[in-house]
Amino acid sequence: MSKNSDEKIKRIVIVGGGTAGWIAAAGLSSLYKSEDLSIRLVESEAIGTVGVGEATVPHIRHFNVKLGIDERDFMQKTSATFKLGIEFCDWNRKGQSYVHPFGAYGEPLGGVGFHHHWVRMRKRGDTRSIDEFSLPVKMSHMARFAMPSPDMRSVESTFSYAYQFDAGLYAAYLRSYAEARGVVRTEGRITGVTQNAQTGFVEAVVLENGETVEGDLFIDASGFRGLLIEQTLKSGYEAWSHWLPCDRAWAVPCKASDANTPYTRATARDAGWQWRIPLQHRVGNGYVFSSGFLSEDAACATLMANLEGAAQAEPKMLSFTTGVRKQQWNKNVVAIGLASGFLEPLESTSIHLIQLAVTNLVEMLPDMRFCDDDRDEFNRIMHLEYERVRDFLILHYHATERDDTPFWDYCRAMTIPDSLAYKMALFRERGVIVNYKDGFFLEPSWLAVYIGQGVIPEGYDPLSERISDEALTRYMADYAGKVSAAVQAMPSHAAFLEQYCPSA
Ligand code: FAD
Repeated sequence: MSKNSDEKIKRIVIVGGGTAGWIAAAGLSSLYKSEDLSIRLVESEAIGTVGVGEATVPHIRHFNVKLGIDERDFMQKTSATFKLGIEFCDWNRKGQSYVHPFGAYGEPLGGVGFHHHWVRMRKRGDTRSIDEFSLPVKMSHMARFAMPSPDMRSVESTFSYAYQFDAGLYAAYLRSYAEARGVVRTEGRITGVTQNAQTGFVEAVVLENGETVEGDLFIDASGFRGLLIEQTLKSGYEAWSHWLPCDRAWAVPCKASDANTPYTRATARDAGWQWRIPLQHRVGNGYVFSSGFLSEDAACATLMANLEGAAQAEPKMLSFTTGVRKQQWNKNVVAIGLASGFLEPLESTSIHLIQLAVTNLVEMLPDMRFCDDDRDEFNRIMHLEYERVRDFLILHYHATERDDTPFWDYCRAMTIPDSLAYKMALFRERGVIVNYKDGFFLEPSWLAVYIGQGVIPEGYDPLSERISDEALTRYMADYAGKVSAAVQAMPSHAAFLEQYCPSA
């Protein structure tokens, strides 16, 4: 095992102060004492941040707990709302919608997953939607919210939640957390990088004013430009735009009358999709589209014509190429955030991937030393995570009946990765949900998108037949009744929020 750093890492330099940079700063400073490890973050206000990234997945709560963040304080200071999932409108067919909830559909019965029983009853003529058996779907439909119950036997324990927040306020929140724990911020534009002549390791970044910031390990959180990982180390990029063809987004905030819905909405449009993310004080909106199928001007006009309230700023356009950095950790540079890759925001996965990278990095540095094997393992895990998310996103575009625009024709007909094709085939044939152990999106997520996008199993687990039709009918009616009663007893999301963390 060849040691790359025989000397202990004593200085970490984070390049970039967007969401990624401040997540890294907060995560590291929560673990290490500033006497043992100096953490410096360099950012340029003149360059600014990408300024979007408002919807999250439930894993963020675990990260916040590790940091010891108080939820009410956090939600108040970031103008956050609760998120129970994503409502997808017009994806399979125009006029049809479904919710991808953060939670379960029914519960296994007789050792068989609930959806097998549902498919069986459907074949017998039961027309009920699988949504009847999901508490978070019903809560979303009725805009209700309450905290999940810790009692695993109750139906109120069958969901989780995430947040929708103001990206700028989130970075500011983490900044004050990190600075209180000794992270030193340096303002300035980096114009040069010095490398060791033998190893190529980065030794320092040089600012416009001539100041040099030296480090042992560098975290590249410089956004799409990948200042160290790409511009300096040429680590390479694996583009996935043939599978995920959207490459632009217009974003604009607006005011809205019913801003407090506890879910994000993703509405399919002619050449992509539009997001709606309700926060306490405003609604974030954006049109993610493929410039190969729609002009920038036409996309902007579509977005502005589909806002629920008055725009609060000029629309801003962002360009990107979906894909992943070939090496996210190269020499002594670890890329996180947009510098490490981007899979487009359809399932709000980027912030989670940043937190995962920080967590994995810390695990590779138990004694603040690293070797080639650590680096290779980090790269393997992170690449796999990106691939898993990629396949899940492709499913949304590919499993569609839409044939009304060239964009949807392309997505429906495109060749998909083998890793997704066999999963879809198994689900179609027998309702089998191939799940990655410890993977990001678990069974209910795949189920929601399969069923929502019209991929309905032809067969089901024959072990379901061990339960009689009568017993199953009784059980399903009972479960749907419990879901219905639970949601009826909950306050509205707006009322819950007002009481839990009133806006300032
Ligand atoms: P940036 O925000 O671009 O920050 C880069 C930092 O590097 C800045 O501080 C900049 O000043 C600094 N910098 C760059 N060059 C230099 C230099 N030369 N000198 C000094 N400093 C420099 N994620 C989600 O999880 N949920 C979402 O809903 C979501 N929606 C998105 C929608 C769109 C359209 C896009 C494009 C992304 C979305 N994301 C979302 C992703 C999310 O926005 C990013 O993952 C997150 O903001 C992290 O960005 P970043 O910090 O890597 O980059």
